[in-house]
Amino acid sequence: MPDDVYADIKNANQSLRKHTMRKVWNFNAGPAMLPEEVLTQAQAEMLDWHGTGMSIMELGHRGPEFKIVADQAEADLRELMDIPKNYHVLFLPGGATAQFAMVPLNLFSKDHHADYIDTGIWSKKAIDEAKRYGDVNIAAKLEIHNDLLQIPTQEKWSLNPQSAYVHYTPNETIEGVQFHWVPKTGDVPLVADMSSMILAQPIDVSQYGIIYAGAQKNIGQAGIAVVIIRDDLINDPLSHTPTLYNYKIHVENKSFYNTPPTYSWYIAGLVLAWMKKQGGVKKFAEINKRKSQKLYAMIDSHKDFFINAIHHDSRSIMNIPFNLTSPELTQEFLDSATAAGLTNLKGHRLSGGVRASIYNAMPEEAVDTLIDFMKEFIRTRG
Ligand SMILES: *Cc1c(COP(=O)(O)O)cnc(C)c1O
Repeated sequence: MPDDVYADIKNANQSLRKHTMRKVWNFNAGPAMLPEEVLTQAQAEMLDWHGTGMSIMELGHRGPEFKIVADQAEADLRELMDIPKNYHVLFLPGGATAQFAMVPLNLFSKDHHADYIDTGIWSKKAIDEAKRYGDVNIAAKLEIHNDLLQIPTQEKWSLNPQSAYVHYTPNETIEGVQFHWVPKTGDVPLVADMSSMILAQPIDVSQYGIIYAGAQKNIGQAGIAVVIIRDDLINDPLSHTPTLYNYKIHVENKSFYNTPPTYSWYIAGLVLAWMKKQGGVKKFAEINKRKSQKLYAMIDSHKDFFINAIHHDSRSIMNIPFNLTSPELTQEFLDSATAAGLTNLKGHRLSGGVRASIYNAMPEEAVDTLIDFMKEFIRTRG
């Protein structure tokens, strides 16, 4: 591997990192990198949380200390997303995957059928789970036009007005496709798996029945999911639903029916407080737009080297997959990137290639460093 060739990048990278303790930029899709300030604060508070002499992870979940953490996290999320009063906010174990089951188990109580939009691997997992509890109508599928992946426009969907809900995945983490519009479903509740895009840009919560997201991409660490659910959707679930999968129980117990993943909840709280300090969702949306636009511009302006086969109207601002036009150079690209301090750029095991996940915690300077690296790679390999 031509280590010395990338010395310039490494040096530039190192000087950028004068104000950070971190040795690498981690482009992993999830669990993903966390803000350095959050990790430093967690470290400082590890042995003694606010003078208690104990770590927050050792404190009882029903005690007054953890209540402060839990309530503040909810208040900050409500403020950041401008969540209306008629929505409950839950912090639940089991990640987004538990929600794949909880949504049908709780919403199939009247009608045992739902519409699902199939735009990729995470949609399919949600569909497979829902099929265990009722009928699933695939109302639309990801399209391919001129070799480009594209989100299907709504006039092509076949929605059933009798459905219990419509489920979709606004950002497909693996394919790197994103909806840049919100489906209109009338009186049928819209359910969104926002795991890889929650808090990346402002949304109007009132357009949704349920929003859920695993924390390990944009909210914090693995082990917890955030669920935002409209009050009228809290009903009795299917009769065989396990207690822990019952939204009503969680609402009644404010997510404290059993011992919640307290440390994950605490880290989520630190991330949300950090986001507020940085200027909130609008600020992150601006930065995310710039980060993604410049990376796509780099890829598109070097078509002889890189391809992102996604239609412009369907490109993700969070997960940017691309291939090298010479696939045999992929491994060298990844190895050299790692040597330059740009790690975990390997594409998903099912799709191969390269994927840069650039969530809120990924600073713009890291994307600039990646772009410099790509230019240097072309210069030395082209
Ligand atoms: C990561 C991811 C999931 C899975 O989350 P878990 O926390 O592992 O259950 C589901 N949906 C999307 C869109 C994701 O990105």
